[in-house]
Amino acid sequence: MAGHRLDPCQIDTYKCLVALRRVLVANPRFHKAFEDTWVVASRARNVQHGPVGKIFLVTRLLGWRWVGPWRFTTSSNQELDFLCVSEQRWQHEIRDSLRSMLWTAASQRRPDMVGLEAGVDRMASSAVLQSKKSSDNQRGMLRSILAGAIFTEHRRWRAKLTANNECKFCLAGEVENEQHLWWECPAWASVRAGHPKAMLTYSDNWPTCFRWCGIMPENHEGFSELAEWFADPDSAGEAPGRDDVAPEPLSGRSAEVFADGRVVIFTDGACRNNQDPRFRKAEYGAYWADGHALNVSCSLEGWAQTNNRAELQAVIAALEAESRPLEVRSDSKYVIDGCLLHLDTWREAGWRRCTNGDLWRRLNELLRQRPPSSVRLVKVKGHAQQKHVQRGMVAQEILKETRQQMHLPQLVRTCAQRTRTSWLEQDTSWKSLARFSG
Ligand SMILES: [Zn+2]
Repeated sequence: MAGHRLDPCQIDTYKCLVALRRVLVANPRFHKAFEDTWVVASRARNVQHGPVGKIFLVTRLLGWRWVGPWRFTTSSNQELDFLCVSEQRWQHEIRDSLRSMLWTAASQRRPDMVGLEAGVDRMASSAVLQSKKSSDNQRGMLRSILAGAIFTEHRRWRAKLTANNECKFCLAGEVENEQHLWWECPAWASVRAGHPKAMLTYSDNWPTCFRWCGIMPENHEGFSELAEWFADPDSAGEAPGRDDVAPEPLSGRSAEVFADGRVVIFTDGACRNNQDPRFRKAEYGAYWADGHALNVSCSLEGWAQTNNRAELQAVIAALEAESRPLEVRSDSKYVIDGCLLHLDTWREAGWRRCTNGDLWRRLNELLRQRPPSSVRLVKVKGHAQQKHVQRGMVAQEILKETRQQMHLPQLVRTCAQRTRTSWLEQDTSWKSLARFSG
């Protein structure tokens, strides 16, 4: 469970890929030779010698595909340009794939780990373990439960340590396994009574890794009842009174705005639920005019969901959609400063010294495709002028849309961590709206 620990058997795979990135980032002079070797090796069958052959072997083990000299597709279908992603992200993806290999193997081998093949929701599964409220003793016990290492009577019996596998607590002649101990044994009924929510939501459809070991898989169809139970009627549907908050559409603003012969585009990005990385959801929008065909409002794609990425993606979307000379108005200091002050430095460093290198590279490409004076970037304050409210409306549309798309796995995860997140999603979205609409 602990953050970056690895199975010793996997250290070779891990080190191999980490070293590959380090060596190539530090030594650009190897790039050409590396690319050439990759081309040759990718055409040959079963190359197993040399560093490139070794990497081919390792990626196959991980369930990744090495689609280009610098590009991998991970087992969860993430595209990785390993020179551009950060060291942390690179290591994270490798560890993630290694872990899911182990989980899949365990789910096939052990009846108490069925369900792990879906991946583990690590935050939900280790929430109590990491809570400051539990004592060292409790944590020790919890570790045994999570690892499925409870010495039940059934296990003793299998190890030939006792004559039979019947429960010694209730003496009802039942087999004493995890299922009996946690959920059925009448001798522990008083303990169960203290947890009515768990007992009322209990379902035989839950995977055994959750029922017996308390490990919550990433998603599982058996959790639908759980999600329904925890789904707060207030936050799942349209809550009463919320429509009152929506700002009226501004009349007379339906036409495009021009400044010095450039069409003005308002861009914005927002990220909700910053407190919890699992619920972080970023959206971006670009606004030309009311009902304008080019208006964009989308959810940010990909692994990293941050406000800066959303702001950056918003500007990219505007540049991609608009071919006329334009003035982009953004309230993001990060985007404006990056474009005006740092873009050249980052380009010369090959996008490796900056965060969000992939997006900055794309933005740089778009800017370079245009005549130098055709793009102007303007920093605006949050809601300095009334017309900036229009940006708020873009954001509002985005937020509404995403709320409708909220789907089951998200609900399930939310209920697992309910005490911590308590439907922040709704609150923050409406708070940010209030900020936009002043
Ligand atoms: Zn019993």
